[in-house]
Amino acid sequence: MRDEIVPVRENLPLTGAHFLLTVESPAQAQAARPGQFVMLRLLGRSDILLRRPMSIFDVVGEGSPTLIRLLYKTVGRGTDAMARLKSGDRVGLLAPLGHGFFREDYQKQLGEVDEVVHLAGGIGIAALLTAARELSEQNIPQRLFHGGRSAPDLVGWEDFQPYVTDTILATEDGSRGHQGFVTAPFEDDLKKNREKRVLMMVCGPEPMLKACAALARDYGHPCLISMENRMGCGVGVCLGCSVSVDGTGHGAYERVCTEGPVFWAEHLNWNTGT
Ligand code: FAD
Repeated sequence: MRDEIVPVRENLPLTGAHFLLTVESPAQAQAARPGQFVMLRLLGRSDILLRRPMSIFDVVGEGSPTLIRLLYKTVGRGTDAMARLKSGDRVGLLAPLGHGFFREDYQKQLGEVDEVVHLAGGIGIAALLTAARELSEQNIPQRLFHGGRSAPDLVGWEDFQPYVTDTILATEDGSRGHQGFVTAPFEDDLKKNREKRVLMMVCGPEPMLKACAALARDYGHPCLISMENRMGCGVGVCLGCSVSVDGTGHGAYERVCTEGPVFWAEHLNWNTGT
């Protein structure tokens, strides 16, 4: 993990209040593992004191990566200020953080499944792309289910196309793909393919995480969930991101920033507001 001041290379507006921010940070880009995140600090803004957590959507560059891409949605003061960043500006970046999708015990499941299914709710898709790329290098078949409120909320899924055999889109208003929650077509698929051993990788809003955890339990599939709780420090000190767990590990609570952000669905206690 390194704390650096890095230059912005590009801040591209996308649909639905989403942006793709590219910063140059070779050491952090090369150290990043799938599912890890950054804490981004807006310099010169004493009114936005806390860093904002953002998934590492992508790392790019010729040969070894030098650039980090963050895919984000503007939802408040910090992300609104991020949207005003332009090429040449500088930001503080503490990264890479968290242990991501490929912790040793998570890896073991990969040898035992027929397919990995990525389930992304809205901007939750940002946590999953680098995992998809690494899994494709291991020749593991993958599909993407991506849901959002409306068509403009479906960003980032095009980047998965080299790595997945199929992409299923869903919107709550029916403006793109299936109408309704993305978990509906996924459950239809589970019913049709009961013998298939699937590893679910999920990131999205809390109701979707709960629905996916329930599907994993009901259909008996392993499920890795990347959590996006509110977070103060990102390094395990403030405890602001703690979630209730099943009582193993560090006790009844674990920190999303350090024990996570990726957890087995069954490890999380879904009844206590996690
Ligand atoms: P605020 O003014 O603080 O809040 C505005 C609204 O956003 C409020 O409704 C508040 O409840 C909600 N909010 C605030 N913080 C969070 C949070 N941490 N999680 C969920 N909702 C929040 N967002 C992205 O757009 N792209 C990402 O790749 C991404 N990755 C994340 C990875 C991790 C590990 C975590 C913990 C969060 C991630 N988030 C991501 C969420 C992002 O950090 C928040 O949207 C951001 O901090 C909001 O800051 P703000 O100042 O704009 O909003």
